[in-house]
Amino acid sequence: MARPQKSRKVLNPPKMKGFKPFGMPLCKAEPVIMKFEEYESLKLINYDGLQQDQAAKLMNVSRPTFTRIYNKALNLIAKSFVEGKAIEIKGGNFEFDQEWLRCKKCYKLIPGLENHSRCLDCSLYGDNELVRVG
Ligand SMILES: [Zn+2]
Repeated sequence: MARPQKSRKVLNPPKMKGFKPFGMPLCKAEPVIMKFEEYESLKLINYDGLQQDQAAKLMNVSRPTFTRIYNKALNLIAKSFVEGKAIEIKGGNFEFDQEWLRCKKCYKLIPGLENHSRCLDCSLYGDNELVRVG
């Protein structure tokens, strides 16, 4: 029996739910699914400029596991680019350091509940506008 996977630490959720290709009809193509930990690995290496061993530590995984996650993320981007498919970022085996919420209206990310249950940028919008990310 396979061991259950240890969950990977993700510090920051992505700002968006995914990406759409430009100039392609989207309705026909199944999106490429990128997991949260795959997104995080790209951010740590290619955006933050970390080395793979540093990034592995931050995500609480071994270096080989990190490399596997990171390579998967690169392959998904290549697939999306070459096949003209959207990328949807969802799911995976990860945990955040803290709870993250997203405003349904303006998509702003809000860390934790911080004493309010509404998006302060969308004061005219009703209650229940925040959804949990992840
Ligand atoms: Zn809002």
